[in-house]
Amino acid sequence: MTNRIARKEKIITVVGANYISYGVVLDLLSKAFEPYCKSPFTRKQFQVSIWENTHATAGVILTVLGIEAYRNRIAYLDKRKIGKNVASDLSTIFKKKASIFPTGKFEEIIKEVMIMRDSIAHNHIYKVEVHYSQDWTMLGHKQKLLDGYGDSKRFSGSVVEKTRKTKVLRFNVQPAKIGFEDLFTLLAIFDLFVGISQKVLGNAYLPFNLSYELNGHWEDNLSKVLAYYFELIPNPKFKKQFNSILKSLKADFSSFIDSLNTWVITNICPRCYTFGIDKPNNVVKCCKCTFGVQVIH
Ligand SMILES: [Zn+2]
Repeated sequence: MTNRIARKEKIITVVGANYISYGVVLDLLSKAFEPYCKSPFTRKQFQVSIWENTHATAGVILTVLGIEAYRNRIAYLDKRKIGKNVASDLSTIFKKKASIFPTGKFEEIIKEVMIMRDSIAHNHIYKVEVHYSQDWTMLGHKQKLLDGYGDSKRFSGSVVEKTRKTKVLRFNVQPAKIGFEDLFTLLAIFDLFVGISQKVLGNAYLPFNLSYELNGHWEDNLSKVLAYYFELIPNPKFKKQFNSILKSLKADFSSFIDSLNTWVITNICPRCYTFGIDKPNNVVKCCKCTFGVQVIH
């Protein structure tokens, strides 16, 4: 009997990614969804309910932790040191493997993700001035980021001053307004990031295996879980905005994801271009134009 080492295995840990693959973030999405459905969408609001906000912001923080964990793993496997900027670290590596990769567009969306995360993690403080009528109906509000919170130069290029939303992905950056819709869009971006990484770098760089129980069935595809919620979303304005974001993401990135798998940017109705034709439990049906495919098992 000898104690000599016969075999050595190197394991590169990515703990952060488990928050998404084991459903912690999807549970938070589900918790945020209940109060979100009761929101008064037609009325002006300067914040979402505390229950929705708490669960959604926790989901945002954990999802971004997952993106950062994968960035570290990718950089390690590519024998690079990580820099301060997640967006440029990732796009530099993608560009090296795929010379026509649209680095500018990719960096902008990851930058918007980081801006939303920072506004939560660094407790950006806003002064919100609310205007009411005589009978206390809210007429509107002004929100101002107080000096000393957030890098104004970094923010100004990506955030619309009046709405305090990011320009491309429409993330709220006033922390009290971050809710279900922001976490939903962020998970779509996470899915895009996984899709690009697996096609451009290979599965070994970014292993992602979702295992999530939804209505009694185990689901392994993130875009299908999001499709389930999308059908139930009661805010038509957000659905329209999400479809339009997907349209441009698809135009920019569809050649950098594997067409054999179902991703958020390809899970789109071929007839009316609405998101979410592939649903959990192998249902293929558009929630808008009812275009569908009978799947034979
Ligand atoms: Zn359709």
